[in-house]
Amino acid sequence: WTYANIDTMRRQLKMMGLSIDWSREIATCHPDYYRHEQKMFLDFVEAGLIHQREAWVNWDPVDQTVLANEQVIDGRGWRSGAPVEKRRLSQWFFKITDYAQELLDALDTLDRWPEKVRLMQANWIGRSEGLRIAFEVEGRADRLEVYTTRPDTIFGASFCAISPEHPLAAELAAGNPDLTAFIEECGRLGTSEAAIEQAEKVGFDTGLRVKHPFIDGKTMPVYVANFILMEYGTGAIFGCPAHDQRDLDFARKYGLDVLPVVVPDSEQDFTVGDVAYTDDGRLANSDFLDGMDVDAAKAEIAGRIEAAGSGRREVNFRLRDWGISRQRYWGCPIPIIHCADCGGVPVPAADLPVVLPDDVSFDRPGNPLDRHEEWKNVDCPKCGKPAERETDTFDTFVDSSWYFARFASPHAETPTDRAAADYWLPVDQYIGGIEHAILHLLYSRFFTRAMKKTGHAGMDEPFAGLFTQGMICHETYKTAEGAWVEPADVLEGHGDARVHAETREPLIVGRSEKMSKSKKNVIDPEDIISTYGADTARWFMLSDSPPERDLDWTESGITGAWRFSNRLWRLVAASAATLPPPGTAPDDDSAPDLRRAVHAAIAGVTEDLEAFHF
Ligand code: ZN
Repeated sequence: WTYANIDTMRRQLKMMGLSIDWSREIATCHPDYYRHEQKMFLDFVEAGLIHQREAWVNWDPVDQTVLANEQVIDGRGWRSGAPVEKRRLSQWFFKITDYAQELLDALDTLDRWPEKVRLMQANWIGRSEGLRIAFEVEGRADRLEVYTTRPDTIFGASFCAISPEHPLAAELAAGNPDLTAFIEECGRLGTSEAAIEQAEKVGFDTGLRVKHPFIDGKTMPVYVANFILMEYGTGAIFGCPAHDQRDLDFARKYGLDVLPVVVPDSEQDFTVGDVAYTDDGRLANSDFLDGMDVDAAKAEIAGRIEAAGSGRREVNFRLRDWGISRQRYWGCPIPIIHCADCGGVPVPAADLPVVLPDDVSFDRPGNPLDRHEEWKNVDCPKCGKPAERETDTFDTFVDSSWYFARFASPHAETPTDRAAADYWLPVDQYIGGIEHAILHLLYSRFFTRAMKKTGHAGMDEPFAGLFTQGMICHETYKTAEGAWVEPADVLEGHGDARVHAETREPLIVGRSEKMSKSKKNVIDPEDIISTYGADTARWFMLSDSPPERDLDWTESGITGAWRFSNRLWRLVAASAATLPPPGTAPDDDSAPDLRRAVHAAIAGVTEDLEAFHF
C-alpha cells in the first residue's frame, strides 16, 4: 500500500517537472533505510543519549494502546471513545533535555529561519530561572519542596499545591478513599498540558499544613490540585493568588486569601478582583521586601533561602525528554532484547536489521508484535537464555529526523558517508509547514547533534535556511443532506450559486480551507496538468499569493495563469524568427536599451527568486 502510494506521488512529481535527483530516492519504511536507524540507536545508547524509564502515558483500555496527547479528546480515546487511563509504562527516551540550553542558544545562529519558528521553539524549550524552596510540614519530619519562578511573591502565598502524581499524594491517598477517587478523576484528564490548562481548576485539601518560611506562626493548607504537572519543577508549588491567574481562580473557588504584594508604582490601596496582577511594580505587604522592585526582591529571597539551607536557585526547562516507544506494528522495531537476567540488551550490530514480520494479524486490538511468538521469542545475545524482543516500535518522527542526511549518501553501507555528509550538509534551504515548528524541526536539531556526538555527521544544525510555505486551500461544497462534494463534480449556477454536476441540486458553499480528503475540497493535480499543463499549475501556485501565505485555489486564478503562460509563449514564438540564435551576445553598442532591460530583468528575477517572491 505504501509503495503503491509512493509510485503515485513519484509519477505526479515527475509530471510537475520538478528537478529531483531520483537516483537518491529512499523510503524510510524500507529495511535498507531503517537498519541504519537501528545502528544509530545502538550508537546513541552507547553514547548515553538514550535511557529507559517508567513514565506516565495515556492508556486506551479498549484499543490496548498508548495514545499521544493529541489523540485524547475530552478525556477519551479518539477511536474507542473509552475513558483514558494514566499508566506507568517502561518507555525509551531520547535525552533531548541534555541539549535544552544548547538548542535554545543556537536559535540565535539560525538567521535564515522565520522569527516565528524560532520563537515557538524558544517557548517550547521554556527556560525559567527560579527557586526551589523546602517548606516545613507540621507534624512531619520531611519537607515539601516547591519550585517557583516568583519567589518575590512569597509574602502573598496562601496555599501549597501538589500534583496528583506527587509521591506525597499517593502516600496520603493510601488511607483515604475520597482522595484516591479524586486522584483517579484527575487521571482522566490525560497527560497533555493543553488539556490540563483548559480544565476547571479543582483541588483536594489534604489537611496538611506547611509553615511560611518568613512569617512566624503562619501556616498554609496543602492541596492536591489537578493543574500541577509532576514533570515540571518539583511537582509542587506555592500559590500566590494575587499574581497568578490560575492561583487566583483556585483561591476564589476555595475561599483562600488574596493579598497583593506587587503593586503598580503609582497606585495607592491596590486590590485584586478577578484578574491577577502580573505586571511589574514595587513590593508591598512584604516586610523586608517592601519598596523593592521585582528583580531585587527575587534575589533577596533567593539569598535568604539559600543562606538558611532551605533551598537553592535552579534553572528549569519546560522541554521534556522525547519518548519514542510506540505500541504499534507500523514502525521501525526497537533493536533491544529483554532478558530476565541481563535486562535490556542491545541487538548485536551483526544481527541488524531487526525486520518487521510480514505474517501478522490485526484481528484483535493491541500490537500484533506482542502476539507473534516466533518473532518475539529469541535468545539473549549476552547469556543465551530465552528472552524476548522489545515489541514497541519507534515513533515515526525518528525516521524523519535524519532522512536529509541519508540523501547525501543514499546507498552507503553505513548510516552516513562522512565525506558526503560533510560536503552536502547542512541543508541549504529547507521547506516545510509551520506545523513542524516544535516537532520535526526540533527533533531534527537534536538528532543532528546526537549524530555529531556519535560520529555520523559533523555539524550541529541540520537546516541553514528554513521557509514555511502556506497551504493550498479551496472552498468546500456540501449537499443539503450534509454530504461533501468534490470541486470536480460542481458546476457554477447563477451568480455565486453552485450546483451538483449530475443531480443539479443546489449546494452549500463553505469557506476556503486547507485541502483535505475528509472534506473532499481537493483538486487532483493530474486533472490540472492534463487541462492546463505543468507550467500553468506551477505558475499559479507560486505567483498568485506570496508562497508563505495560504493560496485559494480558484478556477479564475488558474485560467488567469494559463492566459499569461500563453501570452508569454506567443510573444517568444512570434519573435523567434527575428532573434539571434541562443548564446549569441549582442555587441555592447548595438542595442544599449535592450542590454539595460536585460540586466534589469536579470537582477530583478534573481532577487525575487532568492526572496521567494515569484
Ligand atoms: Zn541474558
